[in-house]
Amino acid sequence: MKNIITILGARPQFIKAATLSKALDEHPEAQEILIHTGQHFDSNMSEIFFNQMSIPEPKYNLAINNLGHGAMTGEMLKATEKILLDEKPDLVVVYGDTNSTLAGALAATKLHIPVAHVEAGLRSFNMHMPEEINRILTDRISSFLFCPTEAAINNLHNEGFKNFDVIIKNVGDVMFDACRTFALKAKPPQFSDPFILVTIHRAENTNDPSKLKAIVEALNILHQEIKVVIPLHPRTAQYLKKYGLTLKCAIVEPVGYLEMLGMLQKAKAIVTDSGGLQKEAYFHSKSCVTIRDQTEWVELVECGANILSSTNTAEIVQKVRYSLEKTISLNPILYGDGHAVDKIVNLLL
Ligand code: UDP
Repeated sequence: MKNIITILGARPQFIKAATLSKALDEHPEAQEILIHTGQHFDSNMSEIFFNQMSIPEPKYNLAINNLGHGAMTGEMLKATEKILLDEKPDLVVVYGDTNSTLAGALAATKLHIPVAHVEAGLRSFNMHMPEEINRILTDRISSFLFCPTEAAINNLHNEGFKNFDVIIKNVGDVMFDACRTFALKAKPPQFSDPFILVTIHRAENTNDPSKLKAIVEALNILHQEIKVVIPLHPRTAQYLKKYGLTLKCAIVEPVGYLEMLGMLQKAKAIVTDSGGLQKEAYFHSKSCVTIRDQTEWVELVECGANILSSTNTAEIVQKVRYSLEKTISLNPILYGDGHAVDKIVNLLL
């Protein structure tokens, strides 16, 4: 029997973990314990995903949130180390690029417990992003690097990972697995008008008042042409209030994954700064405008499915109008065959 501890804490990690947790649960040789760091804690940012995707209840909930990066990562490191010393797992699994990812990987590695990093090798090459720092450090101390794309594999090779005693594998994207697994359970939106689906929450866009203002202005212009639906991330809501900005769009509370899949199926196009949404747009053959200067999902830009935009109002409006005219097909196959978790489980066990 292999005892595995999975460490998660933020919304995209619940979605990434759902299908792997299910596969581990069904495997006779694996036993998984979840640690929820508490980084995301509102019920519509956390609990709803556990319920909708039948993710096992975490044995530990650290309730660590609303702290600066240093304090948050430090608290998580301390608390996780204590649990790992008690539970003595054979392996720790971490996902993506949040503070929970780095803290979990660091706690385990210092105790000589091997770490599997799911979604390894991604790079934006922008060291101002907290996510980029978390990814690079987590990759370097992990033993199993499960990459979602060829570009991620190449990034690791370019950083000399061939010289390290680690397993690097392109298994495909676990979010593609999730999307396929839950597609039939998707909850369609209650309205029928054509709409674009928007999510904005990256610190680089929300924390800077001039950038956030320019994005708000663009979305307000677009909403006069086609309905703009925004499940509003709590951080964005907080900064809109702080800067006195008003979104004149169809604002909704953050929704569950099944509602999100329902909206992805019906939307005319996607506008986002989310990592996950860029790919989910593609999985649903929808064109996407990403309000960022660079993306880790470079293959989407290369094949024309995703267009990057600066925060300039006119540029956003023009690119969204253009993307509404575009047809996207799920070709080439960029993110695996929808069985990433089976490959991960086989390699781990
Ligand atoms: N998502 C969701 N409800 C929402 C907004 C996003 O379920 O209201 C999902 C989305 O479909 C994707 C994931 O959350 O699967 C992306 O998470 P987020 O944008 O928070 O993080 P990122 O992918 O940028 O790390």
